[in-house]
Amino acid sequence: MSVRVRFAPSPTGHLHVGGARTAIFNWLFARHHGGAFIIRVEDTDQARSTRESEQMVLDDLRWLGLEWDEGPDAGGPDAPYRQSERVEIYRQAAEELLARGPAYRCYCSEEELEAKRKEAEAAGRPPHYDLKCWRTKAPGAESGAPHTIRFHVPDEGDVTIHDLIRGEVTWKKESLGDFIVLRSDGLPTYNFSVVVDDHEMEITHVIRAEEHLTNTHRQVLIYRALGWTVPEFAHVSLILGPDRSKLSKRHGATSVSQYAEQGYLPEAMVNYLTLLGWSSPDGREVFSREEAIARFSLDRVNPAPAVFDVQKLDWLNGQYIHRMPASELRPLVARFFDVPWLEEAIDVVKTSVQRLTQVEEAVRFVRQYEPVQVERSFAEALAAELRAHGAPRGEAGYKAMVERLKSATGLEGKALFMPLRLAVTGMEHGPELVRAIPLLQRASEADPGVLSPLQRVERLL
Ligand code: GLU
Repeated sequence: MSVRVRFAPSPTGHLHVGGARTAIFNWLFARHHGGAFIIRVEDTDQARSTRESEQMVLDDLRWLGLEWDEGPDAGGPDAPYRQSERVEIYRQAAEELLARGPAYRCYCSEEELEAKRKEAEAAGRPPHYDLKCWRTKAPGAESGAPHTIRFHVPDEGDVTIHDLIRGEVTWKKESLGDFIVLRSDGLPTYNFSVVVDDHEMEITHVIRAEEHLTNTHRQVLIYRALGWTVPEFAHVSLILGPDRSKLSKRHGATSVSQYAEQGYLPEAMVNYLTLLGWSSPDGREVFSREEAIARFSLDRVNPAPAVFDVQKLDWLNGQYIHRMPASELRPLVARFFDVPWLEEAIDVVKTSVQRLTQVEEAVRFVRQYEPVQVERSFAEALAAELRAHGAPRGEAGYKAMVERLKSATGLEGKALFMPLRLAVTGMEHGPELVRAIPLLQRASEADPGVLSPLQRVERLL
């Protein structure tokens, strides 16, 4: 049996980090088993679904690098499946359910149902459908009067599944009333279209959010009624904010695109979201996609909720930035901020930033120079040095400069390096001088907005 999984976003906004994590687990599982990863856009809620939102979600998935494997043949190279284009398939499946017996046409009006629900509530009964149309079994079926198609919960309606993350889960028949599978407008309900599609698409493992666990009861009954194989289920826990309530806008950014805008790298995002509930058997926290694919398994997914920890994400993102060559970082940083000397500057400051957007601040000293008080004799010695030998352009030149300054000033250690740093950068802290001084020299040659080391020192005289 070859593994087939799907990620089924509802296109009603950007891709949420929780959805992204579900997509990543599906993708890792498929890649680990050499199976197929499918995107199915669940857009039958016409009031809330939009094509723009679908585009945003697909763009977010592409940004994360989660390529999918198939879609409808007619839809262009990477069009996903869309439920709105499959309505006929659901209608036929509903006909089959009617023919097999467990479904029936229900002619009760919305008002009637609402009144009955209220009545049941007042009497302290569960608000289940009262089976009126089941008992009469569809008089008026031929009249074409508006109706829904309902599923009848059978006497043997208890369901037990072995969830691959949560273990055994059981539901009792009594907790369900007969439910609608096809609305009067001919569109399927979520529980029905999901089952029909998962069957049609030969999905072997349904890996999705915990909030759908309770839906599984209805879904398994539909599989049974149609004589279809029930897939494996794996329900992934919630993601919580630091206060342990469900992650929401209150806690900060919740969509993948917001993280992209804040300067996180897709590789770091995928790594971080993989760690939200999964742990590598070797205990490592920084791993490549290939490593995650090789090690991923559902039995290491934690059923307990995962807490989204931005500090950890920042740390991880920093790890990725520190390891990336400046030449690769440059185009990514340039989306936010660009200067002719950007690549060398990134190379000098990259170990001090955790997000791409922080590079601008970290390299501000190159363009902005605020002179600060330095011992006049030191400034004179430094100016003389730079006039005589030029500013160093690399490590060897820098070391030679330091040696000459030592003999000229009689200073060494901090007493030498602090005034040197202050004179050249105007700051007490910053990147290593051995890198910063050559950077300032080269940047001043490429960019009229940058003062050279000598021009800086001359401001102190
Ligand atoms: N469309 C559903 C959602 O966005 C997913 C349903 C499923 O995975 O079964 O929550």
